[in-house]
Amino acid sequence: MLDLTPIPAFSDNYIWALSDGRQCWVVDPGEAEPVERWLALQALPLAGILITHHHADHIGGVAALCQARPGLPVYGPETPKIRAITHPVDAGQRVTIGPWVLEILAVPAHTLDHIAYFLAPDDQQPGALFCGDTLFAAGCGRLFEGTPAQLHRALAQFKALPPSTLVCCAHEYTLANLAFAQAVEPGNSAISERCTQEQCKRAAGLPTLPSTLALELATNPFMRTHIPEVQQKAHLQAGTPLADEAEVMGALRRWKDNF
Ligand SMILES: [Zn+2]
Repeated sequence: MLDLTPIPAFSDNYIWALSDGRQCWVVDPGEAEPVERWLALQALPLAGILITHHHADHIGGVAALCQARPGLPVYGPETPKIRAITHPVDAGQRVTIGPWVLEILAVPAHTLDHIAYFLAPDDQQPGALFCGDTLFAAGCGRLFEGTPAQLHRALAQFKALPPSTLVCCAHEYTLANLAFAQAVEPGNSAISERCTQEQCKRAAGLPTLPSTLALELATNPFMRTHIPEVQQKAHLQAGTPLADEAEVMGALRRWKDNF
């Protein structure tokens, strides 16, 4: 059985912990201390680390976690920017970590080295997607290194996964993202309903994650570049005709950057 926990770190990061009750893997430990505290509380050993991209708030805790556990496996993209990686992985590869098999997706956009990990569903549970800073609840990551066309291709890969897939992203940005989603599609009732639900969770001190791909397909403008109303609003914002969904993506991202 898979237990998924978002461990809060810094002001709005989540370090995802995968556990089967006997061992634990963590995704993007930007800090070691919250992970150590959670492991001690659960009385679980850390079996390994998964990394999605090189930003400091995703890898800052790796050295300390490894120093305390010599030989700890660290999976991640092949890049000179992350020296701690012991198991470089690439698109299309399947890796077995503990009882789970993860598929690697290359999703260059937020950074060029960005990868995502997909755990396929089985009879017992839905699949899970560890997408780092590529896709957020109701939003997406900024384009620091990649292009809108790359972001479009990255999100297209996510759209092809089962809608029940749990979306495990790395930041609590949901309410701000939903405000933008409402500006893009003021008439979309799924967005206003989600707004109410997520506000309740935050007011209770709960994370809004994991989300599901089905919910993102219904409420996330960056997953809805095929919808005529979204295209029209992106076109109005850009003030110039947009040739395809990648250009719609670019116009939405620029709009959100200044929202
Ligand atoms: Zn990042």
